[in-house]
Amino acid sequence: MIPVEKALEIVLSRAEPLPAEEIEFTDAPGRLLREDVTADSDLPPFRRSAVDGFAVRASDTASVPAKLRLVGSVPAGTSPDFRVGPGEAASIMTGAPVPDGADAVEMVEQTRESPDGVVLLQSVATGENVSPQGSEVHRGEVVLRSGTRLDPAAVAVAATVGKTRLSVGKRPAVSVSATGDELVDPRETPGPGQIRNSNGFSLVAQLRSIGIDARFLGVAQDSETSLRGFIERGLESDVLLLSGGVSMGRYDLVEKVLQALGVEILVDAVALKPGKPLVFGVTDSGKLVFGLPGNPVSTMVTFELFVRTAISRLEGARDPMRENLQARLLGGLSSRGPRRAYLPGWLRAGEEGELVATPIPSKGSADVVAFSKANALLIVPAERDSLEAGETVSVHPLDSFLHKEDRWLAPKHPA
Ligand code: AMP
Ligand code: MG
Repeated sequence: MIPVEKALEIVLSRAEPLPAEEIEFTDAPGRLLREDVTADSDLPPFRRSAVDGFAVRASDTASVPAKLRLVGSVPAGTSPDFRVGPGEAASIMTGAPVPDGADAVEMVEQTRESPDGVVLLQSVATGENVSPQGSEVHRGEVVLRSGTRLDPAAVAVAATVGKTRLSVGKRPAVSVSATGDELVDPRETPGPGQIRNSNGFSLVAQLRSIGIDARFLGVAQDSETSLRGFIERGLESDVLLLSGGVSMGRYDLVEKVLQALGVEILVDAVALKPGKPLVFGVTDSGKLVFGLPGNPVSTMVTFELFVRTAISRLEGARDPMRENLQARLLGGLSSRGPRRAYLPGWLRAGEEGELVATPIPSKGSADVVAFSKANALLIVPAERDSLEAGETVSVHPLDSFLHKEDRWLAPKHPA
């Protein structure tokens, strides 16, 4: 049995980044950038007015009201061909270039029209409401760094600098297969001793949430022949995810069949709860295979900790592990034994804005209903048997921490 960090290190050491590919910048959200993107011009590209108003010389507004003569107008999208001299002003729109000679812009709200000019009601300081050329970014500066996970703001940046094709990490092809003679399709009513297959679908859904359209191969039976067929098909992909068949039972044949097919097994027991029997192996050609423990919560937790991280590295992320947060525990947690536990919890902002975490009562690694209420995994270290209310707990936030809309509102959710 090896510690979680050691297992992660082994997995990441075998996850060689895939080649990069070019995409349209509009398809960027969720992708991992594989090049530095630089500004093709200064930003702003010219001395820009931040408001609608009048371009003036600040010294002309030292005593107010100040009446100035209008010498022109600068709509957005035009370039002024005149100067603003002493005693003069030009009307100007937000985003338009400030004419030479002017060094400030007075907001229209602080002016009054007069028959042959404009009256400024307040003084402006030199530079007020003027964004100097290059004050945000200089031409040639890096605006999106290689290794960034791209989001809608990155699309705005790419558009701004005219970088419409982006080099991003290829996403791996991933196959998923569930294993187990007891499994029936969710659309069926289970017979005696049968249960519905949930892992096949939760894995496909977890993959979809990171932008991967997985190939679902179906359910393999607990026989070497059946498993062999599914695994051979799955190894056509870059990554194969199997669920079930990795514990100590007589019909837990996944590791054996993987080895028979030439997969080198590098991990087969992790000091982790849930998820101890996690299997990780690689083929000669560098394909990754995960044998995820069959209990539904174990499958989802080991995907979250190991598979998502490995896929992120395949896309080219240098530091793909999600960072833990620290929170104040609002209830006790217990987990005996030498394994680090990841227990379902509810993370939110407390009274003073600090993070607080409420444990969610759960019957363990099969209790997927309890797990579905969690937005975080609360960590009990291997060397502790319990954590008390009031202690600081390390927390692995799940995506639902950001997505579940009532996260700040539900004070005791979910009791
Ligand atoms: P195993 O690792 O195959 O011994 O499975 C451990 C537990 O998880 C057993 O109770 C299985 O019935 C259950 N299980 C295995 N695969 C699935 C699945 N695809 N969906 C739901 N439960 C499963
Ligand atoms: Mg099984």
